[in-house]
Amino acid sequence: MDNVRIRCPKCEWEPDGKPYWRCDCGYHWNTFATGGRCPQCRKVHDYTQCPSGPGGCREWSPHLDWYEGLYDIVNVLKESIKESWKQVMI
Ligand SMILES: [Zn+2]
Ligand SMILES: [Zn+2]
Repeated sequence: MDNVRIRCPKCEWEPDGKPYWRCDCGYHWNTFATGGRCPQCRKVHDYTQCPSGPGGCREWSPHLDWYEGLYDIVNVLKESIKESWKQVMI
Protein backbone atom coordinates (compact mmCIF):
# COMPACT_ATOMS: atom_id res chain seq x y z
CA MET A 1 0.00 0.00 0.00
CA ASP A 2 3.07 2.28 -0.05
CA ASN A 3 2.26 3.50 -3.54
CA VAL A 4 -1.26 4.56 -2.69
CA ARG A 5 -2.01 8.20 -1.99
CA ILE A 6 -5.27 9.34 -0.43
CA ARG A 7 -6.67 12.70 -1.47
CA CYS A 8 -9.99 14.35 -2.32
CA PRO A 9 -10.79 13.64 -5.99
CA LYS A 10 -12.31 17.13 -6.31
CA CYS A 11 -9.88 19.48 -4.51
CA GLU A 12 -6.80 17.33 -3.73
CA TRP A 13 -7.15 17.82 0.05
CA GLU A 14 -5.27 15.04 1.83
CA PRO A 15 -6.58 13.45 5.06
CA ASP A 16 -4.25 14.08 8.01
CA GLY A 17 -5.37 11.11 10.12
CA LYS A 18 -7.77 13.05 12.34
CA PRO A 19 -11.36 11.85 12.97
CA TYR A 20 -13.35 14.31 10.81
CA TRP A 21 -16.12 11.87 9.89
CA ARG A 22 -19.24 11.09 11.87
CA CYS A 23 -21.40 8.01 11.42
CA ASP A 24 -25.19 7.87 11.71
CA CYS A 25 -24.60 6.12 15.04
CA GLY A 26 -22.77 9.21 16.34
CA TYR A 27 -19.26 7.78 16.29
CA HIS A 28 -16.39 10.04 15.15
CA TRP A 29 -13.41 8.45 13.40
CA ASN A 30 -10.91 8.63 10.56
CA THR A 31 -12.78 6.87 7.77
CA PHE A 32 -9.58 6.08 5.86
CA ALA A 33 -8.22 4.02 8.74
CA THR A 34 -11.05 1.52 8.29
CA GLY A 35 -11.73 1.68 4.52
CA GLY A 36 -14.97 3.61 5.01
CA ARG A 37 -16.48 1.30 7.61
CA CYS A 38 -17.68 2.60 10.99
CA PRO A 39 -15.72 0.78 13.74
CA GLN A 40 -18.66 1.01 16.14
CA CYS A 41 -21.74 -0.11 14.16
CA ARG A 42 -19.89 -1.67 11.16
CA LYS A 43 -21.86 0.40 8.65
CA VAL A 44 -20.04 0.87 5.32
CA HIS A 45 -19.91 4.45 4.05
CA ASP A 46 -19.31 4.14 0.33
CA TYR A 47 -19.43 7.91 -0.08
CA THR A 48 -17.02 10.17 1.78
CA GLN A 49 -17.41 13.92 2.29
CA CYS A 50 -14.42 16.22 2.07
CA PRO A 51 -14.31 18.01 5.46
CA SER A 52 -14.38 21.82 5.25
CA GLY A 53 -12.83 22.34 8.70
CA PRO A 54 -9.22 21.48 7.76
CA GLY A 55 -9.51 23.14 4.33
CA GLY A 56 -11.51 20.66 2.25
CA CYS A 57 -14.25 21.44 -0.28
CA ARG A 58 -17.28 19.78 1.42
CA GLU A 59 -18.00 17.76 -1.73
CA TRP A 60 -19.07 14.10 -1.58
CA SER A 61 -17.11 11.51 -3.57
CA PRO A 62 -17.16 7.70 -3.75
CA HIS A 63 -14.83 6.44 -1.03
CA LEU A 64 -12.72 4.46 -3.49
CA ASP A 65 -12.15 7.53 -5.68
CA TRP A 66 -10.07 8.99 -2.84
CA TYR A 67 -7.38 6.38 -3.42
CA GLU A 68 -4.87 7.27 -6.08
CA GLY A 69 -2.16 5.04 -7.48
CA LEU A 70 -3.98 1.70 -7.51
CA TYR A 71 -3.77 1.58 -11.31
CA ASP A 72 -0.04 2.33 -11.13
CA ILE A 73 0.44 -0.80 -9.01
CA VAL A 74 -1.41 -2.85 -11.63
CA ASN A 75 0.71 -1.36 -14.39
CA VAL A 76 3.93 -2.11 -12.50
CA LEU A 77 2.76 -5.69 -12.04
CA LYS A 78 1.94 -6.02 -15.75
CA GLU A 79 5.35 -4.65 -16.69
CA SER A 80 7.13 -7.12 -14.42
CA ILE A 81 5.13 -9.99 -15.93
CA LYS A 82 6.03 -8.83 -19.43
CA GLU A 83 9.68 -8.67 -18.40
CA SER A 84 9.52 -12.23 -17.07
CA TRP A 85 8.09 -13.38 -20.42
CA LYS A 86 11.17 -12.01 -22.15
CA GLN A 87 13.49 -14.18 -20.07
CA VAL A 88 14.39 -17.34 -21.94
CA MET A 89 14.19 -20.56 -20.00
CA ILE A 90 17.46 -22.45 -20.18
ZN1 LIG B 1 -21.59 3.83 13.05
ZN1 LIG C 1 -12.29 18.25 -1.44
